[in-house]
Amino acid sequence: MKTTTSVDAARVELMLTDLRLPAIKLMWKKLAEQADKEGCGKTLTSFDFEAVPMVSKAQVMALTAGDSWLENGANLLLFGPPGAGKSHLAAAVGLALVENGWRVLFVKTSDLVQRLQLARRELGLESALAKLDKYHLLILDDITYVSKDHAETSVLFELIGSRYERHSLLITANQPFGEWGKVFPDQAMTLAAIDRLVHHATILEMNVESYRRRAAINHKRGPGRPPAHAIIKEKA
Ligand code: ADP
Ligand code: MG
Repeated sequence: MKTTTSVDAARVELMLTDLRLPAIKLMWKKLAEQADKEGCGKTLTSFDFEAVPMVSKAQVMALTAGDSWLENGANLLLFGPPGAGKSHLAAAVGLALVENGWRVLFVKTSDLVQRLQLARRELGLESALAKLDKYHLLILDDITYVSKDHAETSVLFELIGSRYERHSLLITANQPFGEWGKVFPDQAMTLAAIDRLVHHATILEMNVESYRRRAAINHKRGPGRPPAHAIIKEKA
């Protein structure tokens, strides 16, 4: 991820002075930090496809054109353990689609579920769901992190039903479908939701170890110095 250098910072402040924007000049560093934290560096350029050999870069690039799937309301499902790069790839695909003219919303599933539950309490669930129709793609990050009570699951599954065959979803999940029965309380509802999600879907399995963990281990080893080699040298 690119961090703001002090040279850039000085230039931004000069420009903001020129533009007579004193309030922004006070706030911009916080805003930039927040943007960094919330994932603005998560692009396809910064995504290392070699770390997930089972994911085809060409296939992902083709998906960023959007027309072959977003026009049909098809889905993209990313599975893999924590740290595998699912959120990064989801954000990167979303951003590339926005750059190609599509309307995309990226949300943490638990946040959206809270909002939809509130809407339902105020008898506005249908219109809240209808409002999401303006997005060609809705990215539900961490779908299996929704707390497991029935009310939360049911708004989530209503959302899935409402977009089915009309508008696309991209979901990321730490657990494979086989585990969803344990994650969500209602078996019949879960099966129906899975059915709808997979009916028209591209599934990318990212079964790799945590990227950060691997990066930390490689860093310790140093570049181009496999551990076996280091051990042999120690003995000699
Ligand atoms: P997940 O959502 O699967 O738990 P993340 O997408 O949050 O994982 O990835 C964890 C961290 O590792 C993030 O900072 C992300 O940018 C980085 N990361 C993961 N996979 C890759 C990759 N293939 N190339 C570059 N960075 C990656
Ligand atoms: Mg994630």
